[in-house]
Amino acid sequence: MTVVFADRMEFLRASEIREILKITQRPEVISFAGGLPAPELFPVEEMKCVALKVLEESGKQALQYSTTEGFEPLRKQIEVRLNKKFKVDVKYTNILITSGSQQALDLTGKLFLNPQDIVLCESPTYLAAISAFKAYKPNFIEVPTDDDGMIIGELEKILQTTVNIKFIYIIPDFQNPTGRTWSLDRRRQFIEVINQYEIPVIEDNAYGELRFEGEVLPAIKSFDSKGLVIFVSTFSKTFCPGLRIGWIAADTQFIEKYVLLKQAADLHTSSISQREISRYIELYDFEAHIKMLAEVYKGRRDAVVTAMQKFFPQNVRFTYPQGGLFTWVELPRHVSAKALLERCLKQNVAFVPGDSFFPNGRIENTFRLNYSNMPEERIYEGIRRLSKEIENY
Ligand code: PMP
Repeated sequence: MTVVFADRMEFLRASEIREILKITQRPEVISFAGGLPAPELFPVEEMKCVALKVLEESGKQALQYSTTEGFEPLRKQIEVRLNKKFKVDVKYTNILITSGSQQALDLTGKLFLNPQDIVLCESPTYLAAISAFKAYKPNFIEVPTDDDGMIIGELEKILQTTVNIKFIYIIPDFQNPTGRTWSLDRRRQFIEVINQYEIPVIEDNAYGELRFEGEVLPAIKSFDSKGLVIFVSTFSKTFCPGLRIGWIAADTQFIEKYVLLKQAADLHTSSISQREISRYIELYDFEAHIKMLAEVYKGRRDAVVTAMQKFFPQNVRFTYPQGGLFTWVELPRHVSAKALLERCLKQNVAFVPGDSFFPNGRIENTFRLNYSNMPEERIYEGIRRLSKEIENY
């Protein structure tokens, strides 16, 4: 039988990370490959009480269909938190709850992209955003970045010479994969340019609340005087990814369209999950929970950085993340991270080679390390083995 799939399937491939993650299931493997929050930090006991309360108090509604926009008390809680944390001034009526922020990315592709339209993104960027957008067959232009974020001069050059740019996708806080954070100056310069060209921006803030040190920086959305920034975030990293609760905060012209698309996609996000998170925030100290997560992850960040400083050869560079779950390593130009991975897997150490994070590129000499999901001793031992393989290479 000859089955003919849609053209978009041509561009979708099994993620390399998923393939690597299969190998890393073996308990003896020290894996820096995933991006998982630490499961031992999930508030399981509290969630048992919350689940019971939700079912006792509002079981019928929690198990029923609900509105596409989302559970109103939760949207109000998000409104307050966005304002307090990131100076984002948005009414709950402009917040749509999504099934994880991954759904927000997929709906974004659906909303904006015709085949061959242009998406601008940081180089490198989040792998699963590339996959979500790719299903709509755009072309990507990667904007060069440095330690302070997107390089504005390079962005302007692209904006001056390119037609049909539909949106710019950015992760300004503790980026996946690099762990870098845009400076305040860069945020301001960026929004100035955006206001001039009037192009929608998707600001993905999956990690912003997981800050280990330094000042919380206002979101780019907080400088958004023209309503061009679509702010996307999630409870996956501050709470539990299994509940699948994310959101979009944006101007009415965008939110109305997202609601139509979401209705067609899955009607609404899980009623019971939304009520559970909302009730948890009412009953417990969510800020204290996030603070505890940040302290544990900071210890793990310290372990990975200390070990890299001690063991890595001088010509290997790496980022120093002030929050989030990742650091990014740059090997000398001639070294292939994929070849290094093959050697490391034999020593039961895994990571993700960097080239998957460049939508167009074949940049071979980088890789991503995740440090959130194992104790400090294991991180130290993993980096020791990894360094040996770099030296042997
Ligand atoms: N954006 C970024 C930058 C991410 O790293 C992730 C998860 N790894 C997501 C979005 C999606 O997360 P979720 O769907 O769990 O909210």
